[in-house]
Amino acid sequence: MLQAEFIDFAKELQNPHVAAWKAKGGRVVGFYCTDMPEQVIHAAGMLPFRMRGTGNKDYTLSDAILSRFNCTFVRSALNLAMGGRYAFLDGLVVGNTCDHIRRMYDVFGRKLAFEPRFFLSFPHVFTDEGRAWVKDEIERFVQQLSKAYGVSITPEALRDALAVYRENARLLEKIQALRQQDEPRISGTDFIRIAVANGSVRKDFANEQIRKLLPAIEAQQAFRKVRARLMVAGSFVDNPDFIEVLEHAGALVVADSLCIGERSFWDPGAREGGNAPPPADPLDELVRLCYERSLCPRIMGGHAGRLQFVQDQIRDARVDGVVLERIEFCDLHGCSNMMLQHVLEDEGVPVLSLDREYSLGDTGRFKTRVEAFLEKIGG
Ligand code: SF4
Repeated sequence: MLQAEFIDFAKELQNPHVAAWKAKGGRVVGFYCTDMPEQVIHAAGMLPFRMRGTGNKDYTLSDAILSRFNCTFVRSALNLAMGGRYAFLDGLVVGNTCDHIRRMYDVFGRKLAFEPRFFLSFPHVFTDEGRAWVKDEIERFVQQLSKAYGVSITPEALRDALAVYRENARLLEKIQALRQQDEPRISGTDFIRIAVANGSVRKDFANEQIRKLLPAIEAQQAFRKVRARLMVAGSFVDNPDFIEVLEHAGALVVADSLCIGERSFWDPGAREGGNAPPPADPLDELVRLCYERSLCPRIMGGHAGRLQFVQDQIRDARVDGVVLERIEFCDLHGCSNMMLQHVLEDEGVPVLSLDREYSLGDTGRFKTRVEAFLEKIGG
């Protein structure tokens, strides 16, 4: 396992970088979820913090508000917030991603009297009108954020933030390449630890840390005897222990289609030597990042793109089998997984479908199913 303080940030909700940032008077703004324009928060000189449920033990507080039919990730994060564990936040951004998350905007306001909150409504289909709509929403968000905190967010600051995020995507792609190679240099567990830490700090800090980490990853002993190369796709995973369960029997997770994993930085435009320069208007670049490249199943009619992404990963990472996981009551990934499973199995790709809770609980059942899957695919 890779050793570095930065990647240990995945273990706890709070981390020393957030604490130091707050101690200097810096603001931290939480956000749900991948396709939100966190670059605007960065450009405002604040720390965008991806909402998580790390360390939650039960749903005692959140179940007074939510029902048992809400996904356990949302119930976990709310439980932490109600217990004061998100006291370090100075604001919250919520998008209309899934119904469970969308409701967090109201709950944080009505039940926790949490302010300031910002809501961004993005369309659920890809259209030209949708593009204009997203641009309007982001522009409105820039104004609201500026007004709420009395800060100026200039086009120059947005361009600088976009450059930092582009660099971040480029660095994460380098790590991804190291886990895709024939003899990977990094496990899927460590990859997710890095991705989670990356979502909990300022990206300029993350870039520094990842630049330092890269030589250590390259120098790691390669994984030579891998029982099977797996890809994992589906609902929100921010707990590296879940990936570790998949890897416990000698398999290696070499690719993913997870919102905090590869989908968070996947951007062909950020690859070195690749593609066109960013558009002059930073809002157009944000529309591209937050909408046009979205792989979130909230987008109706986006299945072909999501399938293509999974097929590309299977080919590029030479995947032997795909684990499609779903947090119970996650309709978006439930539907998406089912559609992916039909096509992948028709193409002869072995698929393991897992329903789970956000918190890991009893891992024995998963280990048995993973073991059986590895035997089935001949690993
Ligand atoms: S796991 Fe599914 S239901 Fe839960 S927040 Fe994510 S998309 Fe929504």
